[in-house]
Amino acid sequence: MYENLSLYIDGKFTSGDSGVTSDVINPANDTVLAKLPHAKKAELDAALAAADKGFKEWKRVSAYERAKILRKAADLIRERTEDIAKVLTQEQGKILIEARLEVQGAADITDWFAEEGRRAYGRIIPARAEGVRNMVIMEPIGPVAGFAPWNFPVTQAVRKIAAALAAGCSIIIKCPEETPGSPLALVRCFHDAGVPPGVINLVYGTPAEISEYLIPSPIIRKISFTGSVPVGKHLNALAAAHMKRATMELGGHAPVLVYDDVDVEYVAKLMAAMKYRNAGQVCISPTRFFLQEKIYDKFVAQFTDLAKNIKVGDGMDPTSKMGPLANARRVNAIEQFVQDAVEKGAQVATGGKRIGNQGNFFEPTVLTDVPDNARIMNEEPFGPVAVMLRFKDTEEVLPRANKLPYGLASYAFTRNGKTAAQIADALESGMVTINHHGLALPETPFGGIKDSGFGHEGGTEGLLVYMQPKFVSYMG
Ligand code: NAD
Repeated sequence: MYENLSLYIDGKFTSGDSGVTSDVINPANDTVLAKLPHAKKAELDAALAAADKGFKEWKRVSAYERAKILRKAADLIRERTEDIAKVLTQEQGKILIEARLEVQGAADITDWFAEEGRRAYGRIIPARAEGVRNMVIMEPIGPVAGFAPWNFPVTQAVRKIAAALAAGCSIIIKCPEETPGSPLALVRCFHDAGVPPGVINLVYGTPAEISEYLIPSPIIRKISFTGSVPVGKHLNALAAAHMKRATMELGGHAPVLVYDDVDVEYVAKLMAAMKYRNAGQVCISPTRFFLQEKIYDKFVAQFTDLAKNIKVGDGMDPTSKMGPLANARRVNAIEQFVQDAVEKGAQVATGGKRIGNQGNFFEPTVLTDVPDNARIMNEEPFGPVAVMLRFKDTEEVLPRANKLPYGLASYAFTRNGKTAAQIADALESGMVTINHHGLALPETPFGGIKDSGFGHEGGTEGLLVYMQPKFVSYMG
């Protein structure tokens, strides 16, 4: 039921010759699922040569033909949803229903980029002299080095693969060593759909070794990384030193502003579902809940009740509503966040502890009375913890919501149109969603500001990061 692991280089599924492997662990029960072969210098050189050759070939394929192959890949992803989802749940931990949604989302993303690649229009600029044509032509930027993380191993990989390919680029993608099976199954769909050898290359290994080898290579023209802020800053510095364009999708610490004119039950239900999705390991996970004074008690009571009643268990068990954290590091990290907050005066409304001693389970947690100097108020928790805070009015809450160096997603709930417009303008984040959860669709731009990075992964913007405008002026 688990994937037969390999690298994918120049159209071939191969273990390479390094002989180095690492274990893939099921986070629900600590068992070893498989051994993952690692790429070293020889395999990376082969991937670079393949991406170079693949780019030269793929950029000459018309956008129309590229779209046909990508749509076929999307159909295969849809057809194989159940198998890929099972691999994903076993290696990453999320409940099967979320894994299915992720795989179906990957098919939608691929379809959308397939079509958007056909609309990569340039433009004509009015000339100053008769007979002159000033044209802007959109060209694929070149071979891409992509680095995708373990929280959404399928969608984070496909956002890079589908967009790069739709633009006419080739890609070497390093997917997460802890969750390698589902991205491999994804890449198999592109292979079976007829993507030529060398256009996609999938590698695994030691992350720092791979990024430090690929980014400086003159073959690579573009970097795309999704992961933590410190690693993003490091890779962006490396990209800058070699004059490579980069997209950085980094962490977040999303504020949620809940005003006292809303349906508290609706907001609590929606936000609890969003908070504990994927056990909170989501860069746009709502974390700092600013609740207007009048509804504070009611919201905290309802949200806490919902959190308490989430059944935590193996994601393969259909009765589980939240799976384990993806790795043991996260359990330790969340435990420390809670301990630090409690030491500084926070109250635990529910949760706060790891569950059992097998697998990486942690209780859905709600904290109240958390002081501003607690680590969880300043660093991304990336786990199943919500922090409840009071606020008086817009003027008072906005500076608090905007205080952190992160700027990825923000949420707000109010029935007052004027307040909605004011906070949409004032919240310092790349994405704002008001009165519903409206983020991360294939057709809408996804990306942050400040330390959360730059560049986009969805929408037209997500295609354009893989293209460069070429200006051509000619006199006929
Ligand atoms: P980490 O900072 O060690 O790694 C984050 C990601 O970057 C991983 O996928 C890792 O394989 C990769 N990475 C690390 N060093 C690298 C390097 N030198 N070159 C290339 N890739 C490298 O932390 P972690 O324990 O794996 O994850 C925890 C933190 O990462 C979380 O606190 C969260 O902030 C962040 N994260 C964010 C996202 C996101 O969607 N933005 C996804 C996963 C993790």
